[in-house]
Amino acid sequence: MAKLTRQVKAGNVLIGGGAPVVVQSMTNTDTRDVEATLEQIRRLHAAGCEVVRLAVPDEAAAAALKVIAPASPVPLIADIHFDWRLAIAALDAGLKGLRINPGNIGGAAPVDNVAAAAKANGAVIRVGVNSGSVEKELLERFGGPTPEALVESALRHVRMLEERGFYDTKISLKSSSVAHTIASYRLMAERGDYPLHLGVTEAGTPMRGAIKSSVGLGLLLFEGIGDTMRVSLTADPVKEIEAAIDILKAIGKRDGVQLVSCPTCGRTKIDLISLANEVEKRLYNINKPIKVAVMGCVVNGPGEAKEADIGIAGGI
Ligand code: SF4
Repeated sequence: MAKLTRQVKAGNVLIGGGAPVVVQSMTNTDTRDVEATLEQIRRLHAAGCEVVRLAVPDEAAAAALKVIAPASPVPLIADIHFDWRLAIAALDAGLKGLRINPGNIGGAAPVDNVAAAAKANGAVIRVGVNSGSVEKELLERFGGPTPEALVESALRHVRMLEERGFYDTKISLKSSSVAHTIASYRLMAERGDYPLHLGVTEAGTPMRGAIKSSVGLGLLLFEGIGDTMRVSLTADPVKEIEAAIDILKAIGKRDGVQLVSCPTCGRTKIDLISLANEVEKRLYNINKPIKVAVMGCVVNGPGEAKEADIGIAGGI
């Protein structure tokens, strides 16, 4: 079991230090479109999302945050690349966190400004390294975007914040390779105690992306590695939340209904596939640790139902 990470906060949401794993997603609306962005944030919140990240590509997007942040039901994180002034604007608008890499914002003075503003606003900063963003020199030294290269790259950004007395940092190390993702996070868990934001980047379409994330993130979480997570899917972001919550339920880190349903066969006596889907849909928002069995015939139905709190079995 990995050691306990230090605890940080995104608004009122605790991350790390033994807090329950926090589920995140990112809006895919144009942030300048306040209504559409807020509507998506509300849908994400209703699905169980606890922290939402938004792209802030320009000043108009930063200006929209002033309207979005006060109306959001969850803490928001600004995703900033390169322009440190947008980070300051996002914090001024009331955002609770930044996703920004200090090494990419133009030198010491911008890092001074961002670290000071984040500290003054009690905001968290995520340093995020992807296999595509590792510095050339590290790629040469480690022979490519290896787990060692990702970890070293992240630690360089982290140290820039530490030199300014800023420690409310969390770290992500994302690769589209599940094996690299697992190895990178394991290595980082050995090297430090910052909370870790888990994700397999560009995981893919809903089915394949959820499988890749379940394997990679599920294994890490099972080992006690990971404090917050995003399941990246090429889909409506609400699907990311459903997948993340299902991963947590499957490994016993979230309470919820455990649905047992048979795969159907030639003995199936009822329209089990429709029934199981309907039962799953209706029970989705119930967070009680109960087991519901939906079985197609009398062969295994009564046995499974006996172990469950509620059982449905096709009989005739
Ligand atoms: Fe087939 Fe019955 Fe098993 Fe379902 S429970 S797979 S219908 S034998």
